[in-house]
Amino acid sequence: MLDTAKNIAPVLILLGPPGAGKGTQARMLEEQFGFVQLSTGDLLRAAVAAGTEAGQRAKAVMEAGQLVSDDIVIAILRDRMAEDDCAKGVILDGFPRTAVQAEALDDLLAETGQKIDAAISLEVDDAAMVTRIAGRYTCGGCGEGYHDSFKQPAKAGTCDKCGGTEMKRRADDNAETVASRLEAYHAQTAPLITYYKGQGALIGIDAMGEIEDIAAKMSAIVKTATA
Ligand code: AMP
Repeated sequence: MLDTAKNIAPVLILLGPPGAGKGTQARMLEEQFGFVQLSTGDLLRAAVAAGTEAGQRAKAVMEAGQLVSDDIVIAILRDRMAEDDCAKGVILDGFPRTAVQAEALDDLLAETGQKIDAAISLEVDDAAMVTRIAGRYTCGGCGEGYHDSFKQPAKAGTCDKCGGTEMKRRADDNAETVASRLEAYHAQTAPLITYYKGQGALIGIDAMGEIEDIAAKMSAIVKTATA
């Protein structure tokens, strides 16, 4: 049990396969509502880069496109959620990804008498995800996302947002790994749609359109769910 658990409100979950736009949408909601985007993928990549014990255990699994063990991910999430800024509300991006993680999150929230406000499922076609993922990259300075085909910066190699010139591509954003990541999603994460439906928390959204249109729909959903 976490003795540093804080009352965090609201708690939103973004569900969807890799490439569905969870990170992009979470960042937009973070800017609009002041919530904290909490991506276990980002936390794990930071642990790998820092060479922590958890990072060393996670590295090969992430490179193979498989899921990191529940104990590692849950511990990382609990630590992060105990930080002060999370009291503003969190958008969970990429967590939970298994039934064990979903139950651990429910238990963690129950410690402060809370539950999830909404689990938003981004519905997309798998076939489009490979192209989306293989072409994406981010600014190393501010994290703004770009894409070779869909969203180039105005000046090639320079971030529109912060002017940074160091663009990064993820080691696991390649066609082979994407296939494993999609498989892991369908086998282990998609069943959570039923789990949150059972809690009355699930909201499905067609996420195949333009980023701004989806963002507008998300924003309306979040306003209603957190009103
Ligand atoms: P993401 O940035 O969400 O696409 O995650 C990148 C990789 O980190 C995934 O392919 C997994 O290997 C690992 N990962 C991130 N979040 C989780 C999680 N909640 N459970 C297990 N593995 C995760």
